[in-house]
Amino acid sequence: MLDSHSNATVMPRAFVAGAAGFLGSHLTDRLLNEGWEVIGADNLMCGSLSNLERASERPHFSFLQADVISPLEDGIDCDLVLNLACPASPPRYQKDPLHTLMTCVVGTFNLADLAHRSSARIIHSSTSEIYGDPTMHPQPESYRGNVNPIGPRACYDEGKRAAEALLFDMHRTRGLDIGVCRIFNTYGPRMDPFDGRVVSNFIRQMLMNEPVTVYGDGSQTRSFCYVDDMVEGIWQFCKAGPDVTGPINLGNPVEMTILELVEMIFEIVGRVPEIAFHPLPQDDPTRRRPDIAQAKEKLGWQPAISPREGISRTIDYFDELLSSGRFDVFV
Ligand code: NAD
Ligand code: UDP
Repeated sequence: MLDSHSNATVMPRAFVAGAAGFLGSHLTDRLLNEGWEVIGADNLMCGSLSNLERASERPHFSFLQADVISPLEDGIDCDLVLNLACPASPPRYQKDPLHTLMTCVVGTFNLADLAHRSSARIIHSSTSEIYGDPTMHPQPESYRGNVNPIGPRACYDEGKRAAEALLFDMHRTRGLDIGVCRIFNTYGPRMDPFDGRVVSNFIRQMLMNEPVTVYGDGSQTRSFCYVDDMVEGIWQFCKAGPDVTGPINLGNPVEMTILELVEMIFEIVGRVPEIAFHPLPQDDPTRRRPDIAQAKEKLGWQPAISPREGISRTIDYFDELLSSGRFDVFV
């Protein structure tokens, strides 16, 4: 258990990379609530300090503006490293593909090195993208994937695959305590309304009375997990012993087509959808659903919040952001 790493009487300390992002900020809040001190690091390339407003009011939180591609300063000591630093939306990670690749590989190495120096556990956010356009459905962790290694998504997909290889090599050769979670599409409050992901795009477009942009014919599927469920799964992974290395899929196995997502969003607000069809981006996976047997067995975890409930909460959050004029903080 993590407690065995901790410095006996002092508060355990976590280093959260990507803390100003969607998942990083929620995990920062969770760690603070669990009685941890948190050093949050971010280069702010796509996160927002507004996500850390709540954390910043807490005495045991500090923020470090840093790019994980650069070696982290000496003297940081911690009991847990959480690696959530990497743009997660396809348009954002493709904007500067070399930086994305370097973040995945060099950034993960720097964070793994920090964990090794501190004798800390590192929990790494891998992704369902490592399965590419899957030929096996649903996807268990044993499936090795179907990724185009030279396409526009490769900077992310292959970067994340290399990061997994790096962590398992550091585990085997240096005894690094690792936990690799393969996160499937996650959504909820604090998503950047302009980040280009499907849930944020559709809700933003719906609230701004714009047509929703469906790529392809909308028959491709995804399985959407609400953020509170994901945070709980990652927290259980943090607390698991060093024998729980993963990789473990974390996601909600309720699968739907993109058109079904459109219908759900508009049904919740009681409106008729207006759709603008656009070409499907290259290498866009046709289907995706996690097999979460490992998460149930090893972490005792499964999602509890239905897509309808989670989407309703997210609409409320975006609505409030829009009506208070705070969409701007993300632009
Ligand atoms: P996000 O884009 O909201 O947050 C990522 C954060 O990392 C941002 O604040 C960004 O500024 C920061 N960042 C990016 N590159 C950095 C660098 N080189 N140095 C320091 N900070 C950097 O994304 P998210 O949805 O919170 O995702 C967090 C992690 O989870 C990512 O690693 C992502 O790949 C992974 N993940 C997320 C999902 C999802 O659906 N949300 C799915 C699979 C994997
Ligand atoms: N998508 C869409 N309209 C949008 C944004 C995305 O139809 O405005 C589609 C996209 O082509 C993909 C799915 O929704 O098939 C999920 O896209 P997202 O970028 O959220 O995540 P990922 O492709 O990484 O799963």
